[in-house]
Amino acid sequence: MGALQIVLLPCLADNYCVILHEPDSGETAVIDAPSAAAVKAALSERGWRLNQIFVTHHHTDHTGGIDELKAFYGASVTGPEAEAERIPSLTKLVTAKSELSFAGHPIEVLETPGHTLGHVTYYFPNDGIAFTGDTLFSLGCGKIFEGDPEMMWGSLSKIAALPDDTQIYCGHEYTLNNARFALTIEPENDALKKRVAEVETLRAAGRPTLPTTVGLEKATNPFLRPQSRSIQARIGMLGAPEWEVFARIRQLKNKA
Ligand code: ZN
Ligand code: FE
Repeated sequence: MGALQIVLLPCLADNYCVILHEPDSGETAVIDAPSAAAVKAALSERGWRLNQIFVTHHHTDHTGGIDELKAFYGASVTGPEAEAERIPSLTKLVTAKSELSFAGHPIEVLETPGHTLGHVTYYFPNDGIAFTGDTLFSLGCGKIFEGDPEMMWGSLSKIAALPDDTQIYCGHEYTLNNARFALTIEPENDALKKRVAEVETLRAAGRPTLPTTVGLEKATNPFLRPQSRSIQARIGMLGAPEWEVFARIRQLKNKA
């Protein structure tokens, strides 16, 4: 069982599809399938064949390529049991209790509802990587379309509880836009200022800002920092419960 090769593939306007490849077995997977054409091109360039599609949630910008990829490669499609009706192409339904692996690498399913009610995050504990879909973004988090702020805060807390060096792959390249908002919430955070400068350089060069890490997000992402006294003071919520501070930050971002 070899190390996983990881390709971060930009798709559509600002989505990412992540391709995983295990060289010994030749097994190949994608996390989410925004576009079949982009995935097919990236795979054929490398001579890889798709075995597995892992889906984080039912939104079209994450599922639009599934049917064509499934038909073309005969790939199996794993996704949240709670969204089985919204994603009819699933062949394997998972919950937090599911035993899952890819090419011998164990996968833990974290239930991370809020953006959608069935949203899941795939965590590979032996590889130290997590695929957070539209739950956690670098310097941001997903909009709460189906759940409520308390639920979303619970989901983000599960991701924040992973080891600090866990590499985080998100569903979108939203980091630069998120950075501008984050600076309004915590302008004095030196780690944030440093990350923003890095993000600006990466984006100016047309490069991705991902993966990020749990540790970096805990130090810089306002949505993971509702316990920060300086954030609480800035938004007039000193001493308020974490999820309420989180909810207020989400509300401010929605209006930004
Ligand atoms: Zn989404
Ligand atoms: Fe999305």
